[in-house]
Amino acid sequence: MLSDIEIAQQNRMEKIQVIADKCGLQPEEIEQYGHYKAKISFDAIRRLENEKDGKLVLVTAITPTPAGEGKSTTSIGLVQALNKIGKNAIATLREPSLGPVFGIKGGAAGGGYAQVVPMDDINLHFTGDMHAITSANNLLSAMIDNHVHQGNELGIDIRQLSWTRVLDMNDRALRNVTVGLGGKVCGFPREDHFMITVASEIMAILCLAKDLEDLKARFGRIVIGCNMQGEPVYVHQLGCEGAMALLMKDAIKPNLVQTLEHTPAIVHGGPFANIAHGCNSIVATKLALKLGDFVVTEAGFGADLGAEKFMDIKCHYAGIYPNAVVIVATLRALKMHGGVAKADLNSENVAAVTAGFVNLKKQIENMRFFGVPVLVAINKFATDTDAEIGELKRLCDEYGVPVELNECWEKGGDGGIDMAKKVAELAESSNPTPKTVYDVNDSIEEKIDKIVQTIYGGVKADFTANAKKQIKQLADWGLDKLPVCMAKTQYSLSDNPALLGAPSGFNITVSDIRVANGAGFIVCRTGDVMVMPGLPKKPAALNMDIEADGTIKGLF
Ligand code: ADP
Repeated sequence: MLSDIEIAQQNRMEKIQVIADKCGLQPEEIEQYGHYKAKISFDAIRRLENEKDGKLVLVTAITPTPAGEGKSTTSIGLVQALNKIGKNAIATLREPSLGPVFGIKGGAAGGGYAQVVPMDDINLHFTGDMHAITSANNLLSAMIDNHVHQGNELGIDIRQLSWTRVLDMNDRALRNVTVGLGGKVCGFPREDHFMITVASEIMAILCLAKDLEDLKARFGRIVIGCNMQGEPVYVHQLGCEGAMALLMKDAIKPNLVQTLEHTPAIVHGGPFANIAHGCNSIVATKLALKLGDFVVTEAGFGADLGAEKFMDIKCHYAGIYPNAVVIVATLRALKMHGGVAKADLNSENVAAVTAGFVNLKKQIENMRFFGVPVLVAINKFATDTDAEIGELKRLCDEYGVPVELNECWEKGGDGGIDMAKKVAELAESSNPTPKTVYDVNDSIEEKIDKIVQTIYGGVKADFTANAKKQIKQLADWGLDKLPVCMAKTQYSLSDNPALLGAPSGFNITVSDIRVANGAGFIVCRTGDVMVMPGLPKKPAALNMDIEADGTIKGLF
């Protein structure tokens, strides 16, 4: 089997005008970035505003292994397959971050014969959205430090700033830094931090904003910390929301690309799912719903994280709701939940598949809570055996959930025909009533407890003294009636990555609670959630190269 980049290099892409035409966009509604990428203008969004929406399909997963279980690959394979069976289907996906690309996990443009292309561009600088987000974020940081340096009229307490700088790179050395060293001309020395760009509130805002006006208003509402009296300080008090929005004038427009089979795909916005809400932009998803009869979108990590936030945050704000959910399961993840060590995941172990099914079952239950029909898609790996696949199908049948084999990684759309037929059938026949896990007007404690009990399968949340203080502060500020964005390990339904399967009887510990008021949610941190990952011992960057003629090597 060829590598992802080799498969992409062999593919002949269509010019992006052809793809735009296919999905009903007019020539003047796209702004081309070279031959194969384009931004879609808001003129198109306005023109299509009153069109009927297509059916929305959410792709989520079992609690994953560190390698990922193939949600992006399945989403792309599924739209390819839906198009093969004659449906007009569009994928809306997240933009990759350079951190994982050069680190351990790899890119986010799918894999094998289910990729979006040009995968090298998409995985690297793409259309510059990450740069714009990083710049808008760091402009605000510079404005804050300058405000303090120039006399600090707002009385900002530099010991209590929650706003940090960002960079789109895994760089642990920047997690905790001191800025302002060098004497009077360099400002006031203070502790600062770097997050990875995709964990930033600016990224979350991009993904939740309706348009440029809304983006600017949300920037203005960001709370950067507090003043000496302990009152919140908002960006509109600094007056730089306009300049920040200006930096994002193109980033807010969705990006059009194509799959290996020339079906349209919109790739826009990419917040992490463990610390942020983990879904591509509302603008992209809503536009795709106007352009396609079926829209396939994904939410990061397992269903307890990304899909819960998709329902409770993205759908809540966008006024959309899925007609079907696809849960990606792999035999390697099932075996991991069944107690098999990482080194042995490629060997047949039917008993471990049976034992590990508890995790998939819980994630199915989680999605059924929302009243949406569920399909399990088995993402087939070369090492999977017939006996293991047979056992997983039997378990799904026994549990009463539809299941299909997904071989799109190896065969492209042809490998997902049955899956596509079933998804189309489920989505076409469903019209679920939107449901959320909690009411935004519940207290912060109630909201988190409801997620722990309904979705994680635990007992309740414990709050550290610090978290309790922060909850009180948010209630005092009147900023507590927002959805909660749980920041939790992706490797367990609990907050302890070592607890595999479907643990029960546990409490989770909430240690830090911050308002992302511009995004419109409250980030609740449990355990050790990384907002600035580090590189592993052997970073993927070591395998990458580019030759004199521009040929790329080792980009997976
Ligand atoms: P996720 O979206 O769940 O994080 P991805 O779709 O990005 O997962 O896939 C993670 C990695 O696994 C990618 O490098 C992809 O090429 C690879 N992959 C996905 N499905 C398969 C498969 N069936 N066989 C082999 N590799 C696969």
